[in-house]
Amino acid sequence: MDIMFKSTRGDKDLVSASQAIVKGIADDGGLYVPETMPEIDFPLEKITHWSYRELAYEVLKSVLTDYTEEELKHCIDSAYDDKFDTELIAPLATPGENNFLELFHGKTIAFKDMALSILPYLLKTAAVKNGVKEEIVILTATSGDTGKAALEGFADVEGTQIIVFFPEDGVSAVQKAQMVTQQGGNTCVAGIRGNFDDAQAAVKKTFTDNALKAELKKKGYVFSSANSINIGRLAPQIVYYFYAYAQMVKAGKLNMGEKINFTVPTGNFGNILAGYYAMKMGLPVNKLICASNDNKVLYDFFRTGVYDINRDFIVTVSPSMDILISSNLERLLYHLSGSEKTKTVMSQLSKGGKYEFNIDNEFIGEFATIPETFKAIRSLFEETGYVMDTHTAVAKAAYDKYLAETGDKTPNVIISTASPYKFAKDVLKAIDGKYDDIDPFKALEALSEISKTPIPAPIKGIDKREIIHKSVIDRDAIEEFVKNKLK
Ligand SMILES: *Cc1c(COP(=O)(O)O)cnc(C)c1O
Repeated sequence: MDIMFKSTRGDKDLVSASQAIVKGIADDGGLYVPETMPEIDFPLEKITHWSYRELAYEVLKSVLTDYTEEELKHCIDSAYDDKFDTELIAPLATPGENNFLELFHGKTIAFKDMALSILPYLLKTAAVKNGVKEEIVILTATSGDTGKAALEGFADVEGTQIIVFFPEDGVSAVQKAQMVTQQGGNTCVAGIRGNFDDAQAAVKKTFTDNALKAELKKKGYVFSSANSINIGRLAPQIVYYFYAYAQMVKAGKLNMGEKINFTVPTGNFGNILAGYYAMKMGLPVNKLICASNDNKVLYDFFRTGVYDINRDFIVTVSPSMDILISSNLERLLYHLSGSEKTKTVMSQLSKGGKYEFNIDNEFIGEFATIPETFKAIRSLFEETGYVMDTHTAVAKAAYDKYLAETGDKTPNVIISTASPYKFAKDVLKAIDGKYDDIDPFKALEALSEISKTPIPAPIKGIDKREIIHKSVIDRDAIEEFVKNKLK
C-alpha cells in the first residue's frame, strides 16, 4: 500500500515520502505525518533472523513506500556500515537486571547517528526522484547531538550545504569540540546566545519565511531540515524498536508476541514517537515511558493533560533533553485527535505557551532530577561496573520510579542514547566527588580507566584538533547569518 503524508495542521496537500523528506516541514508550518498508519507486512517471528540492515529494509519499505527496493537498500547499506563500531549496529547490553539498547555506536557516539547516517542518502535520492535542481541547504538547530551527527552525515555530500546553530553555553565541552572542529567544505557552525528553544524557534522561523525562501530559490537554494521535524529522521528510528524486541527474544528475556515496555530519555519527543509508530505498525508494546529531566513539561502533560511552557528553563546535566517545546508531540496529538484540534492547541501554544489536551494512552510521564540522575549512575556502576551517560541515567532513574509506583512486571528496555564519554565529566562527578573539578578532556582518560573500556575513536584527542568554526551570534541574527552564507 502506498503511504502518503500530510500536514498535522490541516493543509490538504498529500505528498509522497520522498517529497516530505525534501520539504522537511509542511507549508502551513505543520509536520508531515502518514495519512494512514503503515503496517508491517511480515510475520513478527521473522525479526529474530534478520541483521540490522535486513530489518531496516523490511520496516522502512512499509513507511517510505515511494522509494524503490534498490534505492532503499542503497541508502540502508551506505548508512549502516563500518561507520558503526559493531556489526550489531545497536547492541543490547544487560548489566544486572537491566536492558539497555545502546544507540551510540556510530560516528558521533549518540543516538542521532541512527537516523542521521541514513538521512543524507534518503534526501539525495529524494532530490533526484523529484527533479530538485537547487542545492539543498540543511538548517539545523541542535541541543548538542543532532548538530554533530548531521554535520558528519552531510559533510562533503555533493549538492548540499549544512548550517548548524547550537546554544553557546548549553552543550557539553565534548559536544562543542566535536562541532567546532568539523571538517568539510559545505559545513558551517555557529554558537547562539540563547537556549535550544531560542535556536529552534529562530531556525523554524527562517525555514517558513516565504519571502526568504523565494529569494534563495532564485539563487539556487532550497531549505530542508535534519531535525526530527523531518519524517526522514523519524522513520529510520522505528527500526531499532523492532531490533530491541528481537534481541530481547533472542536473549530469552521475552517470549515472541509478548508485550514489552520501552523507557526513553526524551527531549524533542522524536525518539519515543518512533516507538509509538513501531507499536502502531505491529510491535507488541505495553507502555512507552517518557523520561524527562528537570525540564519536565512532558511529565506534567502526561500526568495532568496541561502542556505549559511558562516556567524557567533549567540547564541540567542532560543537555540534549533541555527542551520545553517538544516539536514531535504535535504528531502524537494529530494521531489522537486530528488536524483541527492540533491546529488549535498549537496556536494556543504559540500565543500563551499553554494548552490542554485530554490524553490517556500508552504513554507514561516520569522524570528525574539531577541528584536522582547522578545516583542512578553511581548505583549501577557500583553494582555492575556498567557506566551510563547522563541522558540514559535519567531514563533509568525514571524507570525505577515507574517500577516502584506500579510493580509492572512487563519486560523493559531502556533506550540508551549516548556514550558516557560524551558527558564524561558529569558521569565521573556522579561516580565520585573527587572528580568534581576535573578538566573535561582529562575526564575521558579517567573514565576509560574506571570503566575499563577504550576511549571511542571519534573523540580521541578531540581537544587537540583545529577549531574551524568560530562564529557566535545573537538568535535574532540567524536569518541574516544564513543570507550572508548563501550569497
Ligand atoms: C536528542 C537526544 C535525546 C532526546 O531525543 P528526542 O528524540 O529529542 O526526544 C536524548 N538523549 C540524547 C543523548 C540525545 O542526543
